[in-house]
Amino acid sequence: MNIHEFQAKELLARYGVAVPEGIVCDTAEQAAEAFRKLGSDLAVVKAQIHAGGRGKAGGVKLVKSADEARDKAEAMLGKAMVTHQTGPEGRVVRKVYVTKGADIATELYLAVAVDRKTNAPVMMACPEGGVEIETLAEEKPEAIQRARIHPMKGLLPFQARRMCKHLGLTGEQAKQGAKVMTNLAKLFVDLDCSLAEINPLIVTEQGDVVALDAKINFDSNALYRHQDVAAMRDLNEEDPKEVEASKFDLNYIALDGTIGCMVNGAGLAMATMDVIQLKGGSPANFLDVGGGANKQQVTNAFKIILADPNVKGVLVNIFGGIMKCDTIAEGVIAAAKEVQLDRPLVVRLEGTNVELGRKLLEESGLPLETAKSLDEAAEKIVAAAG
Ligand code: GDP
Ligand code: MN
Repeated sequence: MNIHEFQAKELLARYGVAVPEGIVCDTAEQAAEAFRKLGSDLAVVKAQIHAGGRGKAGGVKLVKSADEARDKAEAMLGKAMVTHQTGPEGRVVRKVYVTKGADIATELYLAVAVDRKTNAPVMMACPEGGVEIETLAEEKPEAIQRARIHPMKGLLPFQARRMCKHLGLTGEQAKQGAKVMTNLAKLFVDLDCSLAEINPLIVTEQGDVVALDAKINFDSNALYRHQDVAAMRDLNEEDPKEVEASKFDLNYIALDGTIGCMVNGAGLAMATMDVIQLKGGSPANFLDVGGGANKQQVTNAFKIILADPNVKGVLVNIFGGIMKCDTIAEGVIAAAKEVQLDRPLVVRLEGTNVELGRKLLEESGLPLETAKSLDEAAEKIVAAAG
């Protein structure tokens, strides 16, 4: 799960990381009022969307008066903002965050992510922070220093000192920098994050080390342990089909292809998507209905797949184990009747109760094709979906 910048900064502040004071606003009028309340000559109006790259897309504006704050907020609110992270359709800005403006001396990069190679959280620090970090990571990877974080002991003092040196921080700034690093590492582990990024972490002209931007993602499987974080979820920022699927405990991820997939088991779902691709098609979604899904869940899954207007055909690929083939058949039949199936459907069933499942499908009178193997099923659906 992802959260907004203003929420991420609230968490950083809770962990003792300095952030600019700010007020979150729903309207342009509130933005003008926020400028006055902050009482600073310089403020920043920042679009709140779950995507980075806002600066380059006009979503971060420095303002020097309440009127200017209102104008900039007006220009952002209610409109879709397209950044290099949003995709061409962009994200609608529903809130802006008005913060006190900072006088920047240097922009640094600091983040914690999970390193798959070492199976541990890893902190990354780079003296060249700001808006070009992706390019830098590609062209000059040696500029990014890494430190593996011990999951119990956290970031150790020598690691923080080494990274501060890499960032060019000395004296008082190194002290503050080390504190930010230790606290960010603690936040990451405490809150079961998958990413905690401060870009830029700045040194101000006054010599303070401050988080000017923040992006935090969480491991959704651990959210039950953090009710306060879970409450920060913003459904407006998520794909409506994924929100719907999560209500029924379905592992569904929307993709941009044309063949809807309903599969049991994540591995089989991946393999199914691969074979569809191999046969010249492209999957419209990843969906693992799970081993213990009931008829109701299967029905809902099927409805979610068909609600996607890009879907030109559906492939059901079930290897019955704990999940019985007749359960799937019943769900497919119920859903197809409810939504009036208007697109080609290919079903491949194998495993527990396969005979019963096939019989139910045949007797249902639904206009579907069956297949004996995954290859055959993928070929049939790709052909049928055009
Ligand atoms: P992003 O583009 O979505 O990553 O948004 P950021 O919050 O990182 O802002 C982008 C850039 O705007 C930063 O790298 C800074 O250069 C600039 N910026 C943001 N806030 C301030 C501020 O308070 N003062 C000044 N001078 N520049 C700022
Ligand atoms: Mn940023």
